[in-house]
Amino acid sequence: MTTPLVEMDGDEMTRILWQMIKEELLLPFIDLKTEYYDLGLAYRNETNDQVTVESANAAKKYGVAVKCATITPNAARMSEYDLKEMWKSPNGTIRAILDGTVFRAPILIKGIVPYVGNWNKPITIARHAYGDVYKNVEIKVPGKGKAELVFTAEDGAEVRELIHQFDGAGIIQGIHNTEKSIASFARACFGYAIDTRQDLWFATKDTISKKYDHTFKDIFQEIYDEEYKEQFEKLGIEYFYTLIDDAVARVIRSEGGFIWACKNYDGDVMSDMVATAYGDLSMMTSVLVSPDGVYEYEAAHGTVQRHYYKHLKGEETSTNSIATIFAWTGALRKRGEMDGIAKLTEFAGKLEQACIKTVEGGKMTKSLSLISTCENPTILNSLDFIKAIRETLEQIL
Ligand code: NAP
Ligand code: MG
Repeated sequence: MTTPLVEMDGDEMTRILWQMIKEELLLPFIDLKTEYYDLGLAYRNETNDQVTVESANAAKKYGVAVKCATITPNAARMSEYDLKEMWKSPNGTIRAILDGTVFRAPILIKGIVPYVGNWNKPITIARHAYGDVYKNVEIKVPGKGKAELVFTAEDGAEVRELIHQFDGAGIIQGIHNTEKSIASFARACFGYAIDTRQDLWFATKDTISKKYDHTFKDIFQEIYDEEYKEQFEKLGIEYFYTLIDDAVARVIRSEGGFIWACKNYDGDVMSDMVATAYGDLSMMTSVLVSPDGVYEYEAAHGTVQRHYYKHLKGEETSTNSIATIFAWTGALRKRGEMDGIAKLTEFAGKLEQACIKTVEGGKMTKSLSLISTCENPTILNSLDFIKAIRETLEQIL
């Protein structure tokens, strides 16, 4: 390697897996260079969460990062880790700095059959990660009265719209988005489609929401026509927009193999549906792509707290490390591509192949055995599963 990967270490069971993956699957095979940031909760607390900001800035500097799952503190974590503050979600902080879009795709393995019979290629969900209902303002209306939407410009000029004349109690909600954020979402999607040579679908409810959702549709179309159309045509891939109702029907009938761009709420809900239909979150890749081409790879699942507590008690765990391994391979492949190191890119592919072959050969973790059609699977503990992948990798290499 010539340029280091930005390594963002994390918490609990995934932190344990992180170390095992480095020792068993990376360090013996490649000249691994990383710039290390400890995003474990204890160190975030010690640095007043500055380490998270620094790691995101390093990602901007080097272009590729790999992140371990991290705890987002809640009340219980305050006392567990004796925290100075209820620090924000590291993913939220990193996203705000990189301004990205999250792409999630299932890892397909023989023996783990999608619930939708014709899905034989992965469907990648691209979720806009800013605004809408996630930044809403709500009022519980107590009784009779008038609700209005008011925008006051800097010069004091007002635009007003009547929301509803209430004749009894009710509810209202205000949401927003910005043209800047929508445009960067669009560019991240078009760029990722080109990168992975897949069609891009985008859908909203523009027939009902003639200004809000329609603006999403228009911004995507303008950016496509001006900046990406030519490249798409050259690669033989397609961008198309359709109504969200039509999109869900087409998705179910499709064979997969495309990117489905979703507004924030649609992406939240649809990615859970798609992930469940393909298997589960421990068989998903996840990457945050910023509009200026920064890539941050992670697993889609959390820190697997329950397994960690068992591990602390000295009990055996059988935690699936595949999503975390694929975070590393995604980052190594991208680094190899950016720096023109073919051997590194090849290694990433071979390590992914080793994971898939190991499971297809009947060696897996407990959670995988529950969703696999394999008849007599060998259920391995966390470390032995990684060691089995190493054995397969050595054969491939
Ligand atoms: P989780 O860590 O995803 O685990 C939920 C359950 O899913 C586990 O208890 C386990 O089920 C199963 N599971 C998840 N990943 C697995 C794997 N790799 N192998 C086997 N089973 C797996 O979610 P959580 O328990 O709700 O959250 C724990 C912590 O993670 C929280 O502090 C949260 O803030 C954090 N989190 C971080 C991220 C991130 O950094 N990207 C994302 C989500 C959550 P069984 O116990 O039934 O075996
Ligand atoms: Mg969700």
